[in-house]
Amino acid sequence: MAQMLINGELVGTQSGTTITVRNPANGEVVGEVPRGTAAAVDAAVGAAAKAFPAWASMPATKRAQLMHEAARKMHEVVDEVAKLLSLEQGKPLAHAKLEASRVAENLEYFAGLADKLRGDYIPLDDPAKFGITIRRPVGVVAAITPWNFPLTLFANKLCPALAAGCTIVLKPASTTPLATQRAIEAINSAGFPAGVINTLHGSGSEIGDALVSHPRIHKVAFTGQTETGKRIMQLAAKNVTRVTLELGGSDAMIVADDADVRRATAAAAIGRFFNAGQACLAVKRIFVFEKVAEEFMTKFTDRALKEWKLGDQFAADTKMGPLHTEHQRAEVESQVADAVKRGARVLAGGKRPEGAEYAKGWYYPATVLADAPEDSRVATEEVFGPAVPVFIVKDLDEAIAKANSTVYGLGSSIFTKDMAKARRAAEQLEAGYTWVNDIQVAYDQLPFGGTKQSGFGKEHGIEALEGYLEKKSVVLASG
Ligand code: NAP
Repeated sequence: MAQMLINGELVGTQSGTTITVRNPANGEVVGEVPRGTAAAVDAAVGAAAKAFPAWASMPATKRAQLMHEAARKMHEVVDEVAKLLSLEQGKPLAHAKLEASRVAENLEYFAGLADKLRGDYIPLDDPAKFGITIRRPVGVVAAITPWNFPLTLFANKLCPALAAGCTIVLKPASTTPLATQRAIEAINSAGFPAGVINTLHGSGSEIGDALVSHPRIHKVAFTGQTETGKRIMQLAAKNVTRVTLELGGSDAMIVADDADVRRATAAAAIGRFFNAGQACLAVKRIFVFEKVAEEFMTKFTDRALKEWKLGDQFAADTKMGPLHTEHQRAEVESQVADAVKRGARVLAGGKRPEGAEYAKGWYYPATVLADAPEDSRVATEEVFGPAVPVFIVKDLDEAIAKANSTVYGLGSSIFTKDMAKARRAAEQLEAGYTWVNDIQVAYDQLPFGGTKQSGFGKEHGIEALEGYLEKKSVVLASG
């Protein structure tokens, strides 16, 4: 059984109860983790608080060395961690390997930034005085992550936190704790002092409140559903704890009349069907100009039908594994059914695949819908699975207005050869990211985060570090 890492030790819980982790492809048991309790929360937070002063005052070059060593340790376990991730999450093994490798890359990126942090010199009116600003780590961080990209999303929090000098308590989703736990054990074996990195397992509804509202937590870094984010914000308010919230999205893609349609369909397919559509940054609504609509629908449907092979995570030709849970599949099915009932046409997919190989898993195929009403659920809600509505628009004004008619604001993209259109879209689309003629892929160097109900605060880039630091002003007067 996997355990929790608290104060440098691998531990279970006093209650002795466990959470069973199952493979979404066949329901088989993959492993178990202890079911954490409020006492475990207190122990983990206490350990992180005790470790904080020494970690925060350790020279940044030393912290960076440990992070580089952690990246080496992570590289050594990429295959083992990727296999666990595939088994517990359902994603194809090749994609899980990419995700596991990204943890090591993220450690390297932030290790490189750790000793580049600086303050400011600020002249004051009085010539006998001047001001400086120094940057201090915020303290103990609670990091809470979802099941869709468990490794990427814990690394997005752990790496800037460590570089800034914060200590951390990490709670992965209760359906995907195993790969995270194994990766953390490898990272911790680089030699971090006890208590700098801690893990907790358990259901968010059972231990989440105790963690988020713990008086010794100074920041909550959360990724998950918008509704959970709202709850976390309320809980954090109790102690005026700062939060960063990476929440849901319903990203629009605009395909203009001058677009390279082939390229746009490739980006739409990867953007919607990668990770079986269970991605925050994903093409969730497509707005195509009339002139290229038919060509787009034909080519995009073709890709959905031919290129996104459903199958077992470990089969070499699998592009999409099962959805993560029964609930997840039922939700996508009901969103598609709502659109179809109200007049949408199914161009691809739209029903469970047949065949014995799919009988035991939560499989759902790449699905393309046309003529979905604008107030149907696929248009107004986040669709967290491989289904996408395509809408026809007459011009850029209509496309931007419709793209912005959502509570979400995470990503967005436009395909056009006209720089004026690209610039307008970049300026007017209400989202944290706009890609022009490109696939929605987040870059380590670029700040990533949403607006509106997709949350606030940044991950990736130098900006991510700012979320783990506070600026303090100091006035120096001549003695
Ligand atoms: P979720 O249900 O909100 O769960 C996310 C995490 O929060 C899990 O660890 C969960 O624990 C925990 N949790 C649940 N209730 C809690 C509470 N009251 N207090 C503290 N923690 C609590 O989200 P999900 O369904 O796993 O993830 C899918 C969502 O995440 C989608 O909406 C997606 O768009 C969003 N997402 C956003 C980004 C981004 O960067 N913006 C990236 C990826 C995913 P349990 O697992 O134990 O319930």
